[in-house]
Amino acid sequence: MTDTHAHVVAGDLVSVEAHLADILGTIRPLAPTELSLADAYGLVLAEDVTASTPLPSFDNSAMDGYAVRVADVASSSEATPVTLPVVAEVAAGDTGAYALQAGTAIRIMTGAMLPHGAEAVVPVEWTDGGTARVTIRGQAERGHAIRLAGGDARAGEVLVGAGTRLHPMHIAVIAAAGRGAVQVRPQPRVAVLSTGSELAEPGTPIVPGRIWDSNSFMIAAAAREAGCLAYRQAIVPDRPEEVLPAIEDQLVRADLMITTGGVSMGGEYDVVKAALRRLGTIEFRKVAMQPGMPQGFGTVALPASAAPEDRSRRSLLGRLADRGEVAESPVRPGEHEHVPIFTLPGNPVSAYVSFQVFARPAIGALQADDGLGLEQTRAELTGPLRSPPGRRSFLRGVLDRSRALITPLTGQGSHQVATLGRANALIVVPEQVVQMHQGETADVLVLP
Ligand code: AMP
Ligand code: MG
Repeated sequence: MTDTHAHVVAGDLVSVEAHLADILGTIRPLAPTELSLADAYGLVLAEDVTASTPLPSFDNSAMDGYAVRVADVASSSEATPVTLPVVAEVAAGDTGAYALQAGTAIRIMTGAMLPHGAEAVVPVEWTDGGTARVTIRGQAERGHAIRLAGGDARAGEVLVGAGTRLHPMHIAVIAAAGRGAVQVRPQPRVAVLSTGSELAEPGTPIVPGRIWDSNSFMIAAAAREAGCLAYRQAIVPDRPEEVLPAIEDQLVRADLMITTGGVSMGGEYDVVKAALRRLGTIEFRKVAMQPGMPQGFGTVALPASAAPEDRSRRSLLGRLADRGEVAESPVRPGEHEHVPIFTLPGNPVSAYVSFQVFARPAIGALQADDGLGLEQTRAELTGPLRSPPGRRSFLRGVLDRSRALITPLTGQGSHQVATLGRANALIVVPEQVVQMHQGETADVLVLP
């Protein structure tokens, strides 16, 4: 989070790209771990999985039928059927060594190993299905209904590359190649904490002046949607002395921390900013976007010496005090293990957009996956919209993918969570554009 001045777009605003680049430049991928294939779905592969044998590994039948020599059925047709003695039967899984003699047939099932000397498989549909003798009404070319060893993949061929997020088809290939366990990036653990003395737990009664906390539930859900193990912590009130201990409590079990609230542009209630600023490892910025202008990102440190289970529980405040409580003094690099932290703005729509634009790609980076950003598309506006100069707008909209139409929703205030609940896309309006008309084509981010 250095060298911000190069990226300043207007006034002291930093561009969306520069902020994201700084975030991604800070994140280190989690160390790979070996997991059973049954647990690997949805994770990112950390090794190239190659075929240890050819696939398939032996010549086998593609159909239920009869293994034959081509010459024995060369004259066969509807009018002039050929009858051959059936001398054996091979089922899938049969490991016996069979040899086909000229003038005979071997009954064979789909996936069964091809007998030595067999040149084609005549499908059962072309025959009378006989067991002692079979009458065949058709010719078969050499190789007919035979799957050759290596016809799917050669030995040593890369089947699924490192960096692939494992979908069911990848799991299938890895299993088919005989691997029971693979090296993957672990599921990132995300701790979510919302701050604000006005916040109450949903499900409890409130009085005017209080609101129910929606951010922490929303962000934890969004992190899960992005493939994380996410959990929310109880609400932290706007008391500076409670903020650092609350964050520290979560550090030992988090690969990423996300807070919301308390980072606005400078009130005395901006307790997250006030508390974290003293660590000197988190930078608070104004990003040229709307919603979501106040952003904080950086790292919070853990002692490097301790194993994850028994890391020192000393408070961050205590460690700061050890260093003489020097404000703005950064923790020495290399001395500590660093947990990335996002301090997102408190308005729910700001927090949501900030998560999707910044935290989601960062979660991808924790897994060495650069493909976790939102899907981009373009669509025609069904109505006009406005956007402030010098800021990139992310407006809530309803995307009709089949017709490539995007409808901007009314109620674009960053507190208007009801509008958020109706949206399935964000309309991205460039910094220099202040209005767009119906019929114009807009950039759209598809919400997951
Ligand atoms: P702040 O960033 O703390 O100044 O909060 C900005 C606005 O977002 C205020 O109106 C807060 O009440 C609201 N807000 C902050 N945190 C939450 C939350 N967890 N859930 C819903 N609204 C919140
Ligand atoms: Mg607040």
